[in-house]
Amino acid sequence: MDVDVIIGIVLTAVGVIILITTITTLTLVMRLLGRRAFSNRRWFFVQIMLVFFVVGYIINALEMGGIDIIPVANDLLIVSFVYFFGGIFTIVTILAIRNMLRDILGKHIPDEEAIGIFLKITDTDRVLTHLNEMFVVKCDNCNKVLTYTVADVVRDHAFTLERGIQVEEVFGTVSYKLHPVHKCKDGRREICVVHDNNLASRSVEENRLIYGGRI
Ligand SMILES: [Zn+2]
Repeated sequence: MDVDVIIGIVLTAVGVIILITTITTLTLVMRLLGRRAFSNRRWFFVQIMLVFFVVGYIINALEMGGIDIIPVANDLLIVSFVYFFGGIFTIVTILAIRNMLRDILGKHIPDEEAIGIFLKITDTDRVLTHLNEMFVVKCDNCNKVLTYTVADVVRDHAFTLERGIQVEEVFGTVSYKLHPVHKCKDGRREICVVHDNNLASRSVEENRLIYGGRI
């Protein structure tokens, strides 16, 4: 066997190991995102493409070793396919990263528009006394005192509003659950604060990590 064939097979084998490690790591990341209620759809496509690459690499290594699996007359055609799928893989991965960052970081929205979104998603048509107020809550994980407004919560969860703002009605009494986000010592964390039917802050319900910590 020629030296360049051996080098080719070794490089492909190392590539397969790297790809399998990537698939394993991505599976853990997807599990983490799923547990924290973020979408995994695009990462699922990335995962499928990685599996295809592994199969392609293995077929290529076998072909180099003289085992013909797919009879293709022109080797350059295979190279063109690899370039094409490499391009698709890159764009799908970049879009998955963009979506994940949007989910986690939110979006800049002016106050007035953010308040409008809040009233729309909570289906509120009456005047809420504390709608424009600045609220204060203390994080019991980092001891930081954070201030937030309703508009801040809308911005933080601009792409995952159902996760950031919830309305509950018990025996005719409406309460709003707002989840302000802050940069805590172990990552981005949200605190669930229950507000009464006029939006006055009432109690702290939950303090949970959104992103960060150990995978
Ligand atoms: Zn904190």
